[in-house]
Amino acid sequence: MINIALIAHDGKKPEMVSFVMRNKEFLIQTKIFATGTTGSHIEKEGFHVTKLLSGPKGGDAQIAALLATGDIDIVIFFRDPLDKHPHEPDVQMLLRLCDVHNIPLATNPASADFILKGIALHIADKNA
Ligand code: PGA
Repeated sequence: MINIALIAHDGKKPEMVSFVMRNKEFLIQTKIFATGTTGSHIEKEGFHVTKLLSGPKGGDAQIAALLATGDIDIVIFFRDPLDKHPHEPDVQMLLRLCDVHNIPLATNPASADFILKGIALHIADKNA
């Protein structure tokens, strides 16, 4: 089972909802972790979500800790580059740890769609 972390800054939550809806068939086969508020939005669309703290309260740091211990396989983080965030140091830590641990990371919907397509192809190849 693939463990996927989904996070969206406030200005990007509508894009996250569109992303999960258009990738529903794939995502229902994964285990979804999300920061608190993002997780609530995703749950409303019918997904089961393991919700962590809200981002500004430490949710990004919790996801960073999980990926550092090998418990997250993919990070999808729709950051809002046009807004300021009190937890920017946590955001930077999460992005840095993705690179430290070679975890696929998408920070916008176009990249996120490609990652999911790539993984779906990889799984199909393995099962062929
Ligand atoms: P949220 O946190 O899902 O609780 O809004 C996301 C973030 O700002 O990192």
